[in-house]
Amino acid sequence: MRLLVVEDDALLGDAVQNGLRQAGYAADWVRDGVAADSALDAETYAALVLDLGLPKRSGLDVLRRLRNRNDHTPVLILTARDAIEDRIQGLDAGADDYLVKPFDMGELAARLRALIRRAGGQPAPMLKAQGVELDPAGHRVYYQDQPVELSAREFALLHALLLNAGRVLTRTQIEEALYAWGEEIESNTVEVYVHHLRRKLDAGLIETVRGVGYLIRKAPHA
Ligand code: CA
Repeated sequence: MRLLVVEDDALLGDAVQNGLRQAGYAADWVRDGVAADSALDAETYAALVLDLGLPKRSGLDVLRRLRNRNDHTPVLILTARDAIEDRIQGLDAGADDYLVKPFDMGELAARLRALIRRAGGQPAPMLKAQGVELDPAGHRVYYQDQPVELSAREFALLHALLLNAGRVLTRTQIEEALYAWGEEIESNTVEVYVHHLRRKLDAGLIETVRGVGYLIRKAPHA
């Protein structure tokens, strides 16, 4: 899962980016509203953490532009304790949730999980398909009720495929979901992680759609 953090405060932005990386996300971080617009134009994010008080272009402007483009990326806004009017404007402009500074990293991660889950049309916290269960909060995976040990990237790949169960993800979409800017992507990396998941779970779980990408079906395969 790839996230964008927009925060001009260096200490807070750094803490949020690191916290989200530790929670298993690929997190990009930009510090002003114009850079946020460029990032949102260039990349696809599972969710956006948006400070409202930003240099160059306000967070509210970024949010309005995003929604005007008909982009439904889940947005969590960050506001100051006394800025009730900001929160109301932000929610009315299309924000999905908010946190008041200072906030707890665990709460931010939990709220993002809820937003991403709802955006993916998956109201239940456990993602399930074909005998595989993935618990995004506990970072655990079970196959036929037995726990399975996965690396962080294997987990992230399985998470992306399960959130999109029934839809094909292209290799580019998977790479974008797994890696933040500046992280080196080795060639064949997606194939390698798919191979690991097939070995650790079930050889037939992840289907290759030739020339397109990969797919986990919702219904049990025959
Ligand atoms: Ca700010």
